[in-house]
Amino acid sequence: MKIPFIRIFAIAAVAIMAAQAFTQTRPFDTGRMDTTVSPCSDFFAYVNGTWLKNTQIPASETRWGTFNILADSNNALLREILETSAKAKAKEGTDAQLIGDFYSACMDEASIERVGTKPIEPFLREIAAIKDTASLQREIAKLHDTGLPAVFTFGAGADLKDTNSVIINAFQGGLSLPNRDYYLNTDPKSVETRAKFVDYMTTMFKLLGDSPEAAAKNAATVMELQTRLAKASLSQVELRNPDNRYNKVTLSSAQSMTPDFSWNAYLEERGVPAQSEMNIAPPRFFTEVNAMMKDVSIDEWKTYLRFMVANAASPMLAKRFAEANFDFFNRYLGGQKEQQPRWKTCVQQTNANLGEALGMEYAKRAFTPAAKARMNELIDNLMLAMKDRIGGLEWMSEETKKQALQKLSTFKRKIGYPDVLRGYKGLTIDDRSYAGNLIRSNEFQVRRNFQDLGKPRDKTRMNMTPPTVNASYSSQNNDITFPAGILQPPFFNFEADDALNYGAIGGVIGHEITHGFDDQGSRFDADGNLKMWWTPEDRKKFEDRAACVIKQYDSFEVQPGLFINGKLTLGENIGDFAGLTVAHRAYELSRKGKPEPAPIDGFTDEQRFFLGWGQVWAGKYTPEAERLQVATNVHSLPKWRVNGPLSNMPQFAAAFNCKPGDPMVRGEAACAIW
Ligand SMILES: [Zn+2]
Repeated sequence: MKIPFIRIFAIAAVAIMAAQAFTQTRPFDTGRMDTTVSPCSDFFAYVNGTWLKNTQIPASETRWGTFNILADSNNALLREILETSAKAKAKEGTDAQLIGDFYSACMDEASIERVGTKPIEPFLREIAAIKDTASLQREIAKLHDTGLPAVFTFGAGADLKDTNSVIINAFQGGLSLPNRDYYLNTDPKSVETRAKFVDYMTTMFKLLGDSPEAAAKNAATVMELQTRLAKASLSQVELRNPDNRYNKVTLSSAQSMTPDFSWNAYLEERGVPAQSEMNIAPPRFFTEVNAMMKDVSIDEWKTYLRFMVANAASPMLAKRFAEANFDFFNRYLGGQKEQQPRWKTCVQQTNANLGEALGMEYAKRAFTPAAKARMNELIDNLMLAMKDRIGGLEWMSEETKKQALQKLSTFKRKIGYPDVLRGYKGLTIDDRSYAGNLIRSNEFQVRRNFQDLGKPRDKTRMNMTPPTVNASYSSQNNDITFPAGILQPPFFNFEADDALNYGAIGGVIGHEITHGFDDQGSRFDADGNLKMWWTPEDRKKFEDRAACVIKQYDSFEVQPGLFINGKLTLGENIGDFAGLTVAHRAYELSRKGKPEPAPIDGFTDEQRFFLGWGQVWAGKYTPEAERLQVATNVHSLPKWRVNGPLSNMPQFAAAFNCKPGDPMVRGEAACAIW
């Protein structure tokens, strides 16, 4: 299930690679630096230059950096847990049995090869039997029951304007390329990508048994259908505005929006209890779906659905499918040269499907009450600093400040692992069929999602599994989450001096807190409801200040002619800007009344604060992965997550004695929000 309204700190996927654990013995190893570069001209290169020069992206990865290296060492531990569980033959239904058998079946490549396309044959047979619009719509519902993508997405989730309630959400979807722009952009690279995509679809149809001519014709049909859906979809930037994602209507209004798509029949087929209202967004997308119900032929729809099933399932099918899929999505779009070793894929898949069971085993081994206590203390200090910053803002009226402080005072936190476990009662996992496990696991998640309907929304759930190297803020819960996976060196290090920790995990905490006040988060109130709590004058001032950040990031050139999208990355950039400012303030407050710390390796504590932030962003990408990130991801690339915020901070210039006119000093042109 996609969780569309959660802001995540780093990059959603956790990439994994062995043999390069975080082995440096000192919390900050000066050997990673390139001191021939001035900190005032390029701080990212100054902190990480030697590391960048000596580090190669492993062939089975598309990017490599601090996040990956930590994920890698977490994964070594997960592998050990899984291999032990797989051998244990634990009692049916226990966590050890579930994760052990899931992992075993995933590792059994010979069986996966032997069954070939069998796992998807029931779906293909059903699709072949579609004969009219009613059976088409029934089939879309059936595919959705197994979590397979088709036409639009559908699930239960928070009502954005009444966050204690759970409603059904129908949302744009049905594409296979990363987003609508891939279908509509006219630059040469986009045209090339579409041609490669059509080639890939042709390959998939041939693998399904079509003749070369039929396969080519079918690929063209799918391209045409998906392009229509893309044209009616919102862009990545439009999706950032929560108003565009919210359109709660009565079921009968939804029905009149799509007279040729029966919501009643769809809900009934899916076994969803009767609903009086639903969120259906964006309207223009569903208007187009309705038109397509009339003017796309049944045969064309069948072709589209065949591809959607084969494409989504190909990573769990025989090698010829998995490799075709890898070739287009990973190799061509991501620049990944080879597939990950099988065990890594299986660790990731177990984490994705049984993350709570696996994650609790991980947390038992890798997370301590002492770490939780220290995190609580750090968060308390960051909260105080944020309060201090809001109180001191010159541009904001007292009225809006009161609301902002009210929101801050109700922040909740989740640290390490969930306090309330949901378990997997009713899910059957065996060691015989990998595809069978995945299908049952998907069906289980889908069913469980609908069980939330009609109950008060459960705000105790964690949106990430415990081993994840990431952090997040949820505007619906108004809470921040730090899984055990990120509470490890070099983000969070008991051996490190305070300054380094405040610059690293402190910056992460500040980033997540600030998401509550970025361009999206600031539209939600203390209770998590979409509601304007700003005075119009203050909102205008906020947007002017945000425009300054947009303009700066629009000017960052990643590759010749390829620029960061300032509007798409705005929320994350505000998070980095303000998060670091707040972390720095928190560090200052924590120092009050204490003696000046002695320099370490010749660096003052003020300098080590920034070295801490610089180190966590060490990372490099393949050129393809950079392009993909810029086109699809709300996060800026590592270099600008360091140099962007710091060049706007007088605290940074003071720490490194940078002068007006230095590239890392914006002076008058600096942006400041929080
Ligand atoms: Zn973020």
